[in-house]
Amino acid sequence: MTAPTFRFAPSPNGRLHLGHAYSALLNDRLARAAGGRLLLRIEDIDPGRSRPDLVDALLADLAWLGLRFPAPLHQSARMETYRAALKNLAARDLAYPCFCSRAEVAAAAQAAAGDGPVPRDPDGAPLYPGPCRHLSDAAVAARLARGEPHTWRLAMDRALAAAPGPHGFSTFDPDGATGLRAADPARWGDTVVARRDVPASYHLAVVTDDAAQGVTHVVRGADLLAATDLHVLLQALLSLAQPHYHHHALLLDATGAKLAKSRGSRSLADLRAEGVDPAAIRAELGFG
Ligand code: GLU
Repeated sequence: MTAPTFRFAPSPNGRLHLGHAYSALLNDRLARAAGGRLLLRIEDIDPGRSRPDLVDALLADLAWLGLRFPAPLHQSARMETYRAALKNLAARDLAYPCFCSRAEVAAAAQAAAGDGPVPRDPDGAPLYPGPCRHLSDAAVAARLARGEPHTWRLAMDRALAAAPGPHGFSTFDPDGATGLRAADPARWGDTVVARRDVPASYHLAVVTDDAAQGVTHVVRGADLLAATDLHVLLQALLSLAQPHYHHHALLLDATGAKLAKSRGSRSLADLRAEGVDPAAIRAELGFG
């Protein structure tokens, strides 16, 4: 049997804040309690937003908090693996190239909705109504041959036919309670599984890597709960082992908003510069 394996998976597109610290410390506590290990994954597939200096900074922040990890896995080094997963889906007609711009998707979704509200996925993106779902093989081949920029979308109806479910995942709580939660992947529609510049989306990369790293327990914020509905479908389609999940409540600021650098939440680096003791932060977050 493999040891329980947890992971902390930050994206290096900003400094870590207290919410990240909470997630990392909770992973660490639960991994220790389970007699397992905690891995670090740097989620740097986004070349426009990920910065090497922020990778160094987050490693320093985590060390300052007292967390130790084995050498991290960098998603930016995993493109061939993601490409293979994408090819697997495409070869089975479960993913198709989409040549629409963001504006074209918005316009098509509005046109399909008529006077009604545009149906949206849990992240707020319009559900893709076509038209690239219905392109002929010849049209696709010609546009690919011309090098037209494109994303890849999951063909949700065919994906659900290939993996009909019912879908769900097993959950666990820090107090030891376990459960099963039903998943509804259809609410993601024909979601993007590979971006224009990268052969993966967050969703495809995360399921590929959780499996490759032997992750048995995923502990992450409740903002990713809805994404898990899609992750379990991708795991079923790609024959990947499914971890157990715990989605923890998000830390909120004094106004009740989610902590985020974009809203000016103080980073761990700010706190360190102010001379705050990391032991005080651990205690404040409930890990004293
Ligand atoms: N990289 C994601 C983030 O920083 C977390 C992904 C995950 O834990 O699945 O929000």
